Amino acid sequence: MTEQVHVLVTTPHPDDAETRFAGSVAKWTREGKNVVYIVISNGDKGTNDPAISPKELAATREKEQLAAAEVLGVKEVIFLRYPDQGLENTPELRKDIVRQIRIFKPDTVVTVDPHGRYMDHRDHRIVGYATVEAVYPAAESAYAFPELLDEGLKPHRVTEMLFSGRMQHNYFEDISDTIDIKVSAIKCHRSQVGNRPDFGEMLKNAARTNARDLDIEYAEGFHREIINWKPFSYSI
Ligand SMILES: [Zn+2]
Repeated sequence: MTEQVHVLVTTPHPDDAETRFAGSVAKWTREGKNVVYIVISNGDKGTNDPAISPKELAATREKEQLAAAEVLGVKEVIFLRYPDQGLENTPELRKDIVRQIRIFKPDTVVTVDPHGRYMDHRDHRIVGYATVEAVYPAAESAYAFPELLDEGLKPHRVTEMLFSGRMQHNYFEDISDTIDIKVSAIKCHRSQVGNRPDFGEMLKNAARTNARDLDIEYAEGFHREIINWKPFSYSI
């Protein structure tokens, strides 16, 4: 892709982006921003039904993710295919994320908030931390993963991070115009919500709750960090 990529999303599983912030994704793409997804795990444990094979489920979930991305106008989806429920915040995972940051050179990186307290998925905590640590300092540090330089991937500075979670929101996107697209996108994940006809309404209620103090109908909340300090001696 040669066009500028504005927003790079990392998600632990196929469906996390749609469940959490698809209204914002649809809004950004409508504004003409290019959005790319990096889906870290293959999602092959996303069922309670032992009759469905993990391999079959992983293949189904990739198709579902691609369909949802198309509904939202996402430019490209990269599947890293790490094992579901098997993620660790390793140098290898961070390098794989840094590689994508340096390939697509986004202004903004969106990920899951790693600070989900109590009941949260371990993969979510790991992807949140691995992503923030990939953004800073690794993506902008020439010798963080010197082999990436050999791949022709130069340091890149991300200037904004948005963490999606339930807590510490300091930034909201008004998704009143795109809430219905969000509901359409989540319906693509039939292996996950096919037996939940109420799921769209649940997402709408959550977006309404986020918007309760803002003079709008539906919102998605994030914790936003701006990276605006002067780089050290290296040039980026
Ligand atoms: Zn997930």
